[in-house]
Amino acid sequence: MAKWVYGFGGGSADGSAEDRALLGGKGANLAEMSSLGLPVPPGFTITTEACTWFFANGNAYPEGLAAQVDAALARIGEIAGGRFGDAGDLLLVSVRSGSRASMPGMMDTVLNLGLNDETVAALAAGSADERFAQDSYRRFIQMYSNVVLGLDHEMFEEILEDARADRGYEQDTEMSADDWKGVISLYKGRIEEELGRPFPQDPKEQLWGAIGAVFSSWMNPRAVTYRRIHNISASWGTAVNVQAMVFGNMGETSATGVAFTRNPSTGEKALYGEFLVNAQGEDVVAGIRTPQNITEKARIEAGSDKPSLEKLMPQAFRELVSIADRLEGHYRDMQDLEFTVEKGKLWMLQTRSGKRTAKAALRIAVDMAGEGLISREEAVCRIDPASLDQLLHPTIDPKAERQVIGRGLPASPGAATGEIVFSPDEAEEMKRQGRAVILVRVETSPEDIHGMHAAEGILTTRGGMTSHAAVVARGMGKPCVSGAGSLRVDQKNGTLLAAGKTLRKGDVITIDGGAGQVLEGAVAMLRPELSGDFAAIMEWADGARRMKVRTNADTPADARVARSFGAEGIGLCRTEHMFFEGERILAMREMIVADTEEGRRAALAKLLPMQRGDFAELFEIMAGLPVTIRLLDPPLHEFLPHGEEEIAEVAAAMGISAEKLGQRTEALHEFNPMLGHRGCRLAISYPEIAEMQARAIFEAAAEAAKKTGDPVVPEIMVPLVGLKSELDFVKARIDQVAKTVMEETGTHIDYLVGTMIELPRAALRAREIAQAADFFSFGTNDLTQTTFGISRDDAANFLETYRLRGVIEQDPFVSLDLEGVGELVEMAATRGRETRPDLKLGICGEHGGDPASIAFCEKTGLDYVSCSPFRVPIARLAAAQAALGKG
Ligand code: ADP
Ligand code: MG
Ligand code: MG
Repeated sequence: MAKWVYGFGGGSADGSAEDRALLGGKGANLAEMSSLGLPVPPGFTITTEACTWFFANGNAYPEGLAAQVDAALARIGEIAGGRFGDAGDLLLVSVRSGSRASMPGMMDTVLNLGLNDETVAALAAGSADERFAQDSYRRFIQMYSNVVLGLDHEMFEEILEDARADRGYEQDTEMSADDWKGVISLYKGRIEEELGRPFPQDPKEQLWGAIGAVFSSWMNPRAVTYRRIHNISASWGTAVNVQAMVFGNMGETSATGVAFTRNPSTGEKALYGEFLVNAQGEDVVAGIRTPQNITEKARIEAGSDKPSLEKLMPQAFRELVSIADRLEGHYRDMQDLEFTVEKGKLWMLQTRSGKRTAKAALRIAVDMAGEGLISREEAVCRIDPASLDQLLHPTIDPKAERQVIGRGLPASPGAATGEIVFSPDEAEEMKRQGRAVILVRVETSPEDIHGMHAAEGILTTRGGMTSHAAVVARGMGKPCVSGAGSLRVDQKNGTLLAAGKTLRKGDVITIDGGAGQVLEGAVAMLRPELSGDFAAIMEWADGARRMKVRTNADTPADARVARSFGAEGIGLCRTEHMFFEGERILAMREMIVADTEEGRRAALAKLLPMQRGDFAELFEIMAGLPVTIRLLDPPLHEFLPHGEEEIAEVAAAMGISAEKLGQRTEALHEFNPMLGHRGCRLAISYPEIAEMQARAIFEAAAEAAKKTGDPVVPEIMVPLVGLKSELDFVKARIDQVAKTVMEETGTHIDYLVGTMIELPRAALRAREIAQAADFFSFGTNDLTQTTFGISRDDAANFLETYRLRGVIEQDPFVSLDLEGVGELVEMAATRGRETRPDLKLGICGEHGGDPASIAFCEKTGLDYVSCSPFRVPIARLAAAQAALGKG
């Protein structure tokens, strides 16, 4: 017979903390605490397997469950005293949900279950406290009706409010036993009116109603949404915990509270928490009364005049402190505790690893390593790499003056300054030109993703903390203020009305995603620093890491930030934005419209010194670290104006006819630019472009080496190679230029030529391509596009639907598709190294900053990952965790 029910209490338990998957987190830890001999009210856990069975069998219960529940109830009675459903020997229980991962959206706890018109009298007699009994009964009716019978909570609050008002009371505490009786009879009348049947009086019926409600809540929309966002499988199911009641509402010597073994926001090593006297369940967090501090120290710091638990119930306090220590030592992690004091006696109701801020996580990990509780490697593995994002964004200098022009919700932390844009396309366009933008929308939708990617920050005038903008921004680690309702966006006229001012596209604003503020102009920012505990963890991580971490940086500013975050070189420098600024775009356009090679070379000659300057600066910042520079990649029409008006304007500036420019633009038009005339295909059509870029690189390398004394070894990367012969063609040009520049400057330059692997054909033919390549860099953005045959810019329209309908679990552009794209990466790595064992391998797609993808890179034996500057510390930590075998 399958075991569906696991008991705990009285110093032992059927399960343990190891059984999290089967008993849920709450049940497993209640079992563990019981076995440790801690004071836990006895109870039992119905397994998650029973829940899975329930859904697989049309919401029915497995055979044997009912009998096992009866036996377990009897066992609770033996330990706690009493018999469930017996008014002569009362036993009341709570029914609590609990899945493997703690999950909001699940059914709320029902307390005092088993009370009815008869047992309430027994409770009154047993406790010699009629008021307590009636209060418990009305709480039960209220909770049960709401979470099990699905009646509106407000309905009961209204009845209660009227009752108070009639009697001229302000607080519930003024209600007498008789007052509560009156309320209870009104509740019951109302329930019968709503449901057409009376409130269930049979304790067994109550119990099974609650069990069914817990199981069913696993599929409620709130829970389903939460699971989708957090990638929790629906197959896990939830457990149900049934536990003997203890009462924190039995008068002035009773209380209920929550505590953390260390401070969850700062990480400080001190018991931290709150409690309420004469209260039950979640009164503490419900905010009905102001809770009291647990320790005297916290009370004094908070300036509270309400006594601490330490003062008020010294014995229970001392026991709590010792249990907190014991649990922390046992679990070797900071714990979040729930407890109740019944007439001076302490009971433990829950323990779990406590949620904490990133800052606290770092401090706790470093402290615990210092205390010898965990090793340094464990400390490194304790930090969620993604959470570091909270600490890596610039914040507004507290000394700076704030011109607040709007307020919204603090939807995603960090601050950002940029020019206003109103459309995602504009955001992308301006980003390409190297400009910082804030995307301003009424609300965002999946079609806006590319613009959100391009923007420094996102501001919406509608939507809450879980709106599309908020969720996506947090995922991308970008500052976001959502629902700034006082602002008016006029999309058509391109204006933003804020505090009586009209702002237009290009006007600069700052958003503070931590405070939910919109500020006028640019505001002084503080750059995040890696110091203290953060620096310590990073140092330990670096000690454990095998892969190098480089950055994707196109500008000196990016390169500097990345260096300060510990980047060990540049893995991808895209050269295209260098052609957009100021006069450069003019020279670029001249080059594009030139009819002859000569004309093109003349225009390119103007670009050469500018390119050289850009590269020299990057080489200097990177001081001898490797720098990978990608030759021009996008199709040429991206550099030309579109639309008649703009064409006319540009033509005039260039001194050519609008007709000619228009013709050239038209000739360059492509049906599918992503698969068009770009990458190395440009270098083959116009070798002079690649030659100019190579010359700029080598001259800059010679210059920088002379200046800094550090040898510079540039790595030149040829994009979009599918054929070895393509690489051969371009590499021959590069080698020729290298030779010339070395002769001219009299300096020897070591350099590498390699390719991006971003086409399936390149991965397939890696053996022969490696004959011509010193390195491979996996351009997993394009490799994902070309492997799936999905254009990233158009994917947002349906990939979200795919996710909602369960067709895919993860967006492959966010987390590498390990099976498909991953197989190609693995194949190319293996085949490439067959030809050239020392072939350098790296990844430079967006995935280079994604912890799961980084773990894959470690497994595949890549030499480095490269990611955006702000993700460098995340990648350092994730690479260390991967090397340590975590995840
Ligand atoms: P959640 O998962 O939302 O924290 P819990 O199941 O932990 O819900 O229940 C919430 C609160 O209800 C607990 O913190 C505790 O105060 C109270 N509670 C639950 N079970 C009991 C019980 N058997 N006796 C007394 N209080 C209980
Ligand atoms: Mg709750
Ligand atoms: Mg709880």
